[in-house]
Amino acid sequence: MTDASSPPEELAHPRHRFDAPRKEEVLAGALEVIDARVQEDEHLTPTSVNWHYTRACNYECKFCFHTAKSSYFLPAEPGGMDEAQLCLKRLRDAGMKKINFSGGEPFLHPKHLGELCRFCKETLKLESVSIVSNGSKIQERWFQQFGDYVDILAISCDSFNEETNVKIGRGKGMHIRQLEQVRNWCNMYGVPFKLNSVINIHNVGEDMTAAILQLSPVRWKVFQCLLLDGENAGPDALRDAKELAITGEQFGQFLKRHETVACLVPEDNTRMKDSYLISGRLRFLNCTGGAKAPSRSLREVSVRCALREAGFDRKMFVERGGVYAWSRARVPRPPAAPPDVEDLAAAGASQGGGGGEAAARGRPAVGSVGPRTETGRPPRALGGEGAALLTVAACGLALGSAAYLFWRRPGSCRAWTQ
Ligand code: SF4
Repeated sequence: MTDASSPPEELAHPRHRFDAPRKEEVLAGALEVIDARVQEDEHLTPTSVNWHYTRACNYECKFCFHTAKSSYFLPAEPGGMDEAQLCLKRLRDAGMKKINFSGGEPFLHPKHLGELCRFCKETLKLESVSIVSNGSKIQERWFQQFGDYVDILAISCDSFNEETNVKIGRGKGMHIRQLEQVRNWCNMYGVPFKLNSVINIHNVGEDMTAAILQLSPVRWKVFQCLLLDGENAGPDALRDAKELAITGEQFGQFLKRHETVACLVPEDNTRMKDSYLISGRLRFLNCTGGAKAPSRSLREVSVRCALREAGFDRKMFVERGGVYAWSRARVPRPPAAPPDVEDLAAAGASQGGGGGEAAARGRPAVGSVGPRTETGRPPRALGGEGAALLTVAACGLALGSAAYLFWRRPGSCRAWTQ
């Protein structure tokens, strides 16, 4: 005889019982899978792309680590501008928010550069479009035509002693005068101005404080002279920068001398190699091994597939303040006093280690999936119908995530055209 208060025999079987500890284990496992999926997504998001869109340059800086080995310039090829724009759109669709055009010297192709800036700002609506230039080829009419499409213009200058610039290869004696001219145009046309300096054996003893304060850049990026095999070091290189290299200690002394300059952002060798996302012939470049190893081109494979081959260290990028107030709307225009950009950078980076960006994309930040106990594990106390529903939902998500990860496993990269 059946007891009406007991469950039917088949439901009383252990397999069908709503076993609380088992349910929580499944839930914890599901959350781990989701965490892994979110972390992979973060890693493969090209938030900030630095496109060395030409190698050609009119200068011959002795430490240059992107030397003029080829005159190839995609936008000038037949159909190249369309192809460049298509790849930029793919990058935007994959999560790119900021693009930087560098070289070589980007202003060797001023019209292409202006059109690409306009496309990125107007059509793709990127948060930030920036340029790094030596400044020598910039003319006022470029600002009149395209200045509205630039969020930050960075000019490279390594010394405020013209003889030192010439010794380095940074121009032929007119570099500082042109720098001041470009700075004035930035003021006139409301383009935030940034300064980059490479610290090497010729300028490591210099005190640049007064000149920097006068120029008042929104950010002064100070790099330690970097050696890269095949570029400025080794038998295949066009340059030999070994004699310009400085030690970490020398670099530290330079930084100490300029510690009162609030807009200074230092970058030593360790941080530089692993932290930049660089695109050459529309290939991501992996610099982690001391040389540049290219991924396949974005013209052949998807953005994520190329990124997977690139070895980009996003954690380092966020740590060094790579995520900062890069949009023109958020950078106070000169001649207003420059902001403490370090604070802005820290604010950007401190949003859960990239969580701010993740939130902006409407996705949970890494480590923010569900509440956490002190041990970092999900809480164990869940019960009732809500917990059952949550378990079912989590299992569904876990299965979906596992299927997605399987589909995206390394061997599954397919040619974009397939
Ligand atoms: S200006 Fe830049 S690209 Fe040109 S040689 Fe100097 S470092 Fe290289």
